[in-house]
Amino acid sequence: MIYTPQTYRIPDKRMQPFIDADEIWGFINDVKPDKHRVRDVIQASLDKKRLSLEETAVLINADDPELIEEIKEGARELKEKVYGERIVLFAPLYVGDLCTNNCQYCGFRSSNKGVKRITLNEDELVTETKALIDQGHKRLILVYGEHPKYSARFIAETVNIVYNVKHGKGEIRRVNINAAPFDIPGFRTIKEAGIGTFQIFQETYHQPTYMKVHLGGIKRNYDWRLTALDRAQEAGIDDVGIGALFGLYDWRFEVLGLVRHVNHFEAVYNVGLIRSLFPGYKMPCRWISTRITWLKTMNLSGL
Ligand code: SF4
Repeated sequence: MIYTPQTYRIPDKRMQPFIDADEIWGFINDVKPDKHRVRDVIQASLDKKRLSLEETAVLINADDPELIEEIKEGARELKEKVYGERIVLFAPLYVGDLCTNNCQYCGFRSSNKGVKRITLNEDELVTETKALIDQGHKRLILVYGEHPKYSARFIAETVNIVYNVKHGKGEIRRVNINAAPFDIPGFRTIKEAGIGTFQIFQETYHQPTYMKVHLGGIKRNYDWRLTALDRAQEAGIDDVGIGALFGLYDWRFEVLGLVRHVNHFEAVYNVGLIRSLFPGYKMPCRWISTRITWLKTMNLSGL
C-alpha cells in the first residue's frame, strides 16, 4: 500500500524527531469546526482515509452536542466496518519489574524502594505461560522494565521459552513485546525470536511535561524514545504499537501527537499498520483504558 502523508514543519526523516509543539497547538487553537466541515471529516473517515492533523483538530474542537453524537455514530460505524463484532485480546505477562528509570507516575520507578522486585526465572515463566494457556490465551504481551538485565538477548530468550511451551492442546501463537527502546542490533535480535508487535509508548508527546515526569534513567531522553520505533523499523520490525498516557498533559495535544507519529511512519517507512493504545493513567505499561477520545477521534483518524 502506498500512503500519502502530509508535510509538516519538521520534515519527516528516518530516526529524526518530528514533533513541533507550536505547530500542534496551532491546529488546536486555530481550527474552527463548522457543521459541514465536521461532516466532511466524518465522511472522509468512513471512506477509510487517515485524517490529517487539521482534520483531526476539526473533530477534537467540535463542541456542538449534535455534532459530537454524529462523530460517535461515525466512530461506531467505522469500527463495525473494520472490525465487525471481533475483539482481539492479548494477555500481559510481566517478566520483570527491575527498572532504572524514575517515572513519577509508576510504582516500579527506581526511587520506589518499597517494592519487592521480581524477575521470573525459566520455570516461573513456563508456569505462568501454562496458566494463561489454560485460560484460553493464544496471544501474550511480555512486559519488562528498563534494566541492564533485560538485554535484547534476554528478551529473545524469554520469547523462545514462551513459544516452546506446549500445554495440553494449547500453545502461544503470538508474543508481543512491551519493553525499553533498543538500538538497531538489539531490535534485530528480538525480531529474530519471531515476535509480533513491539510497542513503546511515548507517554506524552509534550516535551516539557515529559521532562517533568521522567526524572531519571535513559527514559529521560525524549528523542531516544520518540525515534525508538524508527530503529525497530530499521531492524525489520514493521508491526509497532504507539501510545500516550492520557492524563499527563492536554489530551488534545496527545491525540494530535499520535496522529503526527502515524504520519511520520507513513512518510518515512510507508507503513500505516500502527496499533495505537491507551495505557491507563497511573498504570504505566498497561493499556486498558478507553475513553471518549477513542470514540471521538481515534477511530475516525484511522489509528
Ligand atoms: S513506566 Fe516503565 S520505564 Fe517507567 S518506571 Fe515504570 S516500568 Fe520503568
